[in-house]
Amino acid sequence: MNTTNKLAIVTGGGSGIGLAIAEAFVRNGIYTIIIGRDEEKLRRACQQLGACSDCYTCDLSDLQAIPVMVQEIIQQHGHIDILVNNAGINMKKSFVDVTDEDFQAILQTNVTAVFALSREVVKHQLENGIKGVIINISSMASQYGIPKVIAYTASKSAIEGMTKAMATELSPYGIRINCVAPGFIATDMSAKALDADPDRKSKALGRTPMGHLGQPADIGAAVLFLASDAAKYVTGVVLQVDGGNAVGF
Ligand code: NAD
Repeated sequence: MNTTNKLAIVTGGGSGIGLAIAEAFVRNGIYTIIIGRDEEKLRRACQQLGACSDCYTCDLSDLQAIPVMVQEIIQQHGHIDILVNNAGINMKKSFVDVTDEDFQAILQTNVTAVFALSREVVKHQLENGIKGVIINISSMASQYGIPKVIAYTASKSAIEGMTKAMATELSPYGIRINCVAPGFIATDMSAKALDADPDRKSKALGRTPMGHLGQPADIGAAVLFLASDAAKYVTGVVLQVDGGNAVGF
């Protein structure tokens, strides 16, 4: 993989899957900027990542902050080659109890912010002839029906649709867009969803042929592949990294 002078931004890179993606990038010489809301958490993650990393504090649900952030990163670092739209939030509630505000809040972070950030990064890449890469993170919620996560499911299905539309429109400019759909991965988010609900946990594991949760590093490795030149003829795909969960009986 040619990682010389490549700069990546990873949203939600202070914890869980995002941090594992940043670790995989840094280990392969990709200068990586992690973005999140909690400055202290980001700083600790950056220390862990080492010299080839930096952090930027931004609440991505504040859409007006996104173009400002992208401009500041470009001014400071010159270019953005790789964007990983990893930040996401979940909400577990019965379908009829989800308010319009609840629904909008999930879509704002998981879809609208992904669109706005991708648009700003792609504008910069087109203006500068950068053959960039964008990787979106969706979920098993878009591969099959999971109860009590209606807004999350809508948001992750939207991400997969956007991946295909962007891949088609941006391929002529050498920009690749792909998506990773993680299965059940051991992070704070999955602990919240599964640990207090043993039935759900045994159902998730029961249909996972490999029989165990994935590790954040499993997603890091897949994202690194899609970001690298090894995947230079790959665009518009949704890569399931799920221990077979999406196909399990
Ligand atoms: P996590 O909660 O550990 O990490 C999510 C990160 O996103 C956090 O660092 C959080 O601060 C950040 N974030 C959330 N809203 C933000 C905002 N408005 N602005 C900036 N940062 C924000 O969760 P995770 O499990 O590591 O999830 C990462 C991604 O993987 C999410 O998109 C999630 O939907 C997806 N995913 C996770 C699993 C799983 O089993 N853990 C499965 C499928 C998909």
